[in-house]
Amino acid sequence: MYDIAVIGAGPIGSYIAGELASCGFSVVLIEEHAEVGKPVQCAGLITPRTFDITGRRIAVLNSITGARIHAPDGREIEIDGGKEMAAVIDRSLFDRSLAEEAIRNGAELMLGTSVRSLERRENKKIILSYVKDDHKTTMESRMVIGADGIQSITSRYPGMRIERRVFSGFEIETSSVITPSNKVDLFTGREVAPEFFAWIVPTGDGGGRVGLAASGNAHGYFKNLEKHREWGTYFGSNKAYHYIAGGIHIGPAAGRSYSDGALIVGDAAGQVKATSGGGIYMGLRAAVHAVSAVKEALEKGDTSASSLKIYQDRWVSDIGKELNTAYRIHRIYASLTDRQLNRIFAMLDKKEVLDTIEQHGDVDYPSKLVLPLLKAEPRLMKFGGKLLRGL
Ligand SMILES: Cc1cc2nc3c(=O)[nH]c(=O)nc-3n(C[C@H](O)[C@H](O)[C@H](O)COP(=O)(O)OP(=O)(O)OC[C@H]3O[C@@H](n4cnc5c(N)ncnc54)[C@H](O)[C@@H]3O)c2cc1C
Repeated sequence: MYDIAVIGAGPIGSYIAGELASCGFSVVLIEEHAEVGKPVQCAGLITPRTFDITGRRIAVLNSITGARIHAPDGREIEIDGGKEMAAVIDRSLFDRSLAEEAIRNGAELMLGTSVRSLERRENKKIILSYVKDDHKTTMESRMVIGADGIQSITSRYPGMRIERRVFSGFEIETSSVITPSNKVDLFTGREVAPEFFAWIVPTGDGGGRVGLAASGNAHGYFKNLEKHREWGTYFGSNKAYHYIAGGIHIGPAAGRSYSDGALIVGDAAGQVKATSGGGIYMGLRAAVHAVSAVKEALEKGDTSASSLKIYQDRWVSDIGKELNTAYRIHRIYASLTDRQLNRIFAMLDKKEVLDTIEQHGDVDYPSKLVLPLLKAEPRLMKFGGKLLRGL
């Protein structure tokens, strides 16, 4: 029997497995794919503060200092923070490095192993039923941590509560983009990517990741973009050498991310910023709280829901408000017509407003920009007033 079974060797599961194994617990890290880090379902853009959690810069390909953001009518605003605002990572290598560290710390990695169901027995042990090599069998663990992503089966375990809409994402990797190597290009508009946006993330070698997420069929919108009157040149000439598709959690974070003997973390728990679809930093932040809560629960021999509630309390007080604000900003953005978006871009396109964005803009903490932006351009109140009242 293991002390802890972690389901999913994505970045969040591997980080948790490594930290708990280094405390001396017996940890099994279970991954359904035959290889960690594949398939990639990510644009690989993270803020440098993510490395404060991983303890070192891992798998960095490029440094980003700002963005060019394109309005539906073609207006472009350019923002430059004057320093590294984000790092572009080799996501596959990032995941692999964290899994390797988990193994070095003593975790056992089981690849090609798909967990199908979980059941807590009266003796408080959790029975995991899983399939490996077409063979169905079981294992026992004192605790289960579901870091099993957006399709999480652990989030369906009795007691967990989460609502989500899943946006579809589609992206290609290409060896040549026309985006400057230190900026990302972001494209907005209902015709481009309803309720979300399209992006070009340069990987620093002349190439990049070109994609979008949307409330509809992302692949269909991507095909349309290749012929776009204004932006076709950005999207039409790319020779893809890799296709990426995946789902993005859009919704509030889990209302209940703990239960008897189990936690959910990362995408499984909806710890994703609805403004950007980024889940690595917030998931890792929550992972730190998962590690401390599980350690305390196992040390005192009480893995009941009431003992594990501390995990929810800690991550909610750390990032809950930010995730909820990001979700509210997303809902306002998603409700705007292209005409309204064009009007907003016209309001933003002034030196003092752009300076404010450069000074206060933070991809991980979009709420930091709300008040300074409304002060710099009070006409935005018409759109942001509802948000302000909720802050
Ligand atoms: C197109 C796209 C672009 C994105 N771009 C960014 C970005 O630029 N920056 C950013 O921060 N985030 C981005 N994201 C989101 C980011 O990829 C996720 O937030 C992140 O991967 C979450 O990590 P995780 O460990 O929680 O889950 P995952 O990385 O999804 O890992 C879950 C793991 O669990 C495994 N698993 C699932 N079920 C089982 C099971 N039953 N048994 C065994 N194993 C199982 C899966 O195989 C997987 O390896 C993007 C997402 C998409 C779709």
